[in-house]
Amino acid sequence: MRLQEYQGKELFRRVGIPVADGKVAFSPPEAEEIARELGGPVVVKAQVLVGGRGKAGGIKLAQTPQEARAHAEAILNMTIKGERVRKVLVTRAVEIEREFYLSVTIDRAAKKPIVIFSAEGGMEIEELARTHPEKIVRFHVDPLLGLQAYQIRTALFQSDIAPTLMRPLSDVFFKLYQAFVQYRAQLVEINPLALSDGKLIAVDSKFIIDDDDVPVELQGWEEEELAGSPEERAAKQAGLQYVKLDGTIGIIGNGAGLVMATLDVVALKGGRPANFLDIGGGANAEVMKKALQIVCSDPNVRGLFINIFGGITRCDEVARGLVAAQRELGIRVPMVVRLTGTNEVEGRKILEAQGIIPVADMEEGAAEIVRQTS
Ligand code: GDP
Ligand code: MN
Repeated sequence: MRLQEYQGKELFRRVGIPVADGKVAFSPPEAEEIARELGGPVVVKAQVLVGGRGKAGGIKLAQTPQEARAHAEAILNMTIKGERVRKVLVTRAVEIEREFYLSVTIDRAAKKPIVIFSAEGGMEIEELARTHPEKIVRFHVDPLLGLQAYQIRTALFQSDIAPTLMRPLSDVFFKLYQAFVQYRAQLVEINPLALSDGKLIAVDSKFIIDDDDVPVELQGWEEEELAGSPEERAAKQAGLQYVKLDGTIGIIGNGAGLVMATLDVVALKGGRPANFLDIGGGANAEVMKKALQIVCSDPNVRGLFINIFGGITRCDEVARGLVAAQRELGIRVPMVVRLTGTNEVEGRKILEAQGIIPVADMEEGAAEIVRQTS
């Protein structure tokens, strides 16, 4: 299950990671009231389970309670990447001097937690991996030993962090790792982790918790208001962005922009997309299986085009996941796959061996799947 930002921030509070004061509002007058209680400038933030809310217009700064009310009016009921906004977080505005990225997740290949840090925060990690791969540092944590101070020091040293920031940043690393362990998370992320007036503060939160292992104190935290078709609900529960369309070619990609582009190219080649599905940054075997399951539950799907591009994606792992899912789910429709990233050559070999067609680019792939399904 995924937590909303305000829920994740509550967990940050519990482990001692600083966050700005704030409250959730379901209506514009409530937002105004909260802004008045907080005093000073506030930020009104759409509470939806997708990233990139800022770019989508779901985050707005308000100088006055009246302005907070107007922003809430604009943001509530807005649709962000297919998700309807039903509540907003009204939170004290933070003056940001600098933004960092910090996350802890499971590296499935190594079967160990991995810490990812970047002195360049704010943008999403996939985008960061594309544009500034050299600014990302990552290291594994031995689950038995736990996170070690020297590992953090090394990572911060590699990132050219000033000595004065070493101690406060280390503190946040330890606390985030504690949250990761304590809440049995699959992913915890602070992006941005802001430097404000010399102090660190988590401006955003992201938590993914194993559905089969939800700690007691978080039971009932799952959002009840899951709207949409059964496929859309299943997708949302899996943390995927899925929108059903009325064509015949199932589309899976990583990154909303890439998926949009894929839909366009397929249409350009004369095909009709059956859906929009963004698996986001977590392109691993398990996520891929879930995505295939959702897309293939649509009886109109006659072929699949999977477009996974770049960055920290482990292509061999995704390829193995695809092959396993194809077998387990009994998928018989043709599958065309574009896969680039780490170990891509190996990934393509795995696909080829199973009769799945690997292609080098999006256009070729779109043309191929249209040919296969027409
Ligand atoms: P996301 O777009 O869904 O990841 O939402 P975030 O909570 O990460 O906000 C996106 C961006 O809005 C951040 O990277 C900040 O640059 C900006 N932002 C959000 N809250 C504040 C705030 O309190 N103060 C300032 N100055 N910027 C903010
Ligand atoms: Mn963010």
